[in-house]
Amino acid sequence: MTIPVQRFVDIVDVKHAITDAHEMTQYLRDWRGIYHGSSPLVLRPLTTLQVSEILKVAYETNTPIVPQSGNTGLVGGSTPSADNTQVVLSLDRMTRIIDVDAANNTMTVEAGAILKNIQDAADAADRMFPLSLASQGICRIGGNLSTNAGGLNVLAYGNARDLCLGLEVVLSDGRTWDGLRKLRKDNTGYDLKNMFIGAEGTLGVITGAVLKLFPKPRHFETACVAVPSPHAALELLNHTRSNRVVAFELLPDAALQFMTKHSDAKHPLAAQSPWYVLVELADASDGTLVQTLGAAIDSGIATDAVVAQSESQRRAMWALREGISDIQKLEGDSIKNDVSVPVSRIPQFITDATRGVLAYNRDARIFSFGHMGDGNLHFNISQPADWKRGAFLPHWDQITGIVEEVALKHGGSISAEHGIGRMKRNKMSLIKSPIELKMMRDLKAMLDPKGILNPGKVLPEA
Ligand code: FAD
Repeated sequence: MTIPVQRFVDIVDVKHAITDAHEMTQYLRDWRGIYHGSSPLVLRPLTTLQVSEILKVAYETNTPIVPQSGNTGLVGGSTPSADNTQVVLSLDRMTRIIDVDAANNTMTVEAGAILKNIQDAADAADRMFPLSLASQGICRIGGNLSTNAGGLNVLAYGNARDLCLGLEVVLSDGRTWDGLRKLRKDNTGYDLKNMFIGAEGTLGVITGAVLKLFPKPRHFETACVAVPSPHAALELLNHTRSNRVVAFELLPDAALQFMTKHSDAKHPLAAQSPWYVLVELADASDGTLVQTLGAAIDSGIATDAVVAQSESQRRAMWALREGISDIQKLEGDSIKNDVSVPVSRIPQFITDATRGVLAYNRDARIFSFGHMGDGNLHFNISQPADWKRGAFLPHWDQITGIVEEVALKHGGSISAEHGIGRMKRNKMSLIKSPIELKMMRDLKAMLDPKGILNPGKVLPEA
């Protein structure tokens, strides 16, 4: 197969087509540096029409295309293969916020708009776009929708799928579907947009979206709460539920230890605790959180708590949570799991998965944190402290296998929010029945009959 490089270059102009191996480095590796691809060409179109022209040529010439937005995905979905046969289609120049419609509480954007810029544009219109991830300064809405991203506020607002009203998608043969509708009610047959959301670029290229906006909360109450166990954290969640809880994140002591050791961050509480919860309420009446936490301490659910007294204190608390992925890197290699179980099973899941991993390697350092309110944990395991870098990662399959088996035993999933990508494609049969896999393959064959859209991702090898 010969890739018609010049035909592609002519569509976007030579200035926006990268053929130099050095210049394209950032597009060829994933955020964690686990996957490294190679490609003859990175295309950076500016318009949907250019994306459409690119896909027409790709379809005619059987050229595989890897859509890429912010390239922060954690399952290798946006990295091309290593054999120099796939063209990267980056949406990083399609960044326009087309329309902020406060009357309809919607925003229309191009797929390459950075999530943080979308949040800021909503804020400027006295609205909120609640999708919130630690990668929000880099990731782009096309990638967020394609992975059905979750993050901090799913508890109150849902994941990316719940925040999208309409899509524009370029199909594998270059035709464009304009589904940029602003309707909150539209029961007119199959919901096509939801096929593309979470499809990780295997069914079409998202070029635009209509997003849902929400009233901006007038104020937040945020606290860091010390709890003796994940079970107590679960009780705390139930205890606070009568309020509008917008975030409920579980942190192990190791997270705060790593943060205070490797950064200027200050420990928010006077005494150490095995576990902490970061909890945030929106628009609760003044003092609600203090009262709720006081009652939790009195009943022994929590042992201590500090409520943020200013926006800067609130931000400092969230910085503790958002810095975890970066800080963990400083403690050597880590093996990551993104699993979910029904919320009520979280404590038993942590007990069972910890036992399983430590039986495999008693020096592994368990680092389980995340979106407890959604039943979603990043059950990460840092390398034994005295191991050399590189020695732990070869255990990836065994350790993730142990953790995923426990998650499945508790009725959970092997991918809560990061997707399948390349990393988990061959585990799909653990979570999908043969009939589900057949429907997925049929859908893929119908929308991408030549198999040129992000090959080698999501669907298991045949
Ligand atoms: P990319 O990485 O560029 O792409 C992701 C996938 O979507 C790939 O398969 C790609 O081919 C496909 N794709 C990209 N753009 C398009 C498009 N326009 N059309 C079709 N397919 C496309 N994720 C969470 O869900 N919750 C978190 O809390 C969270 N926290 C994170 C924290 C950090 C520090 C990091 C690095 C990542 C985190 N992530 C989290 C993962 C990641 O940020 C999300 O998956 C994000 O949604 C990916 O967006 P992106 O723009 O970087 O997409």
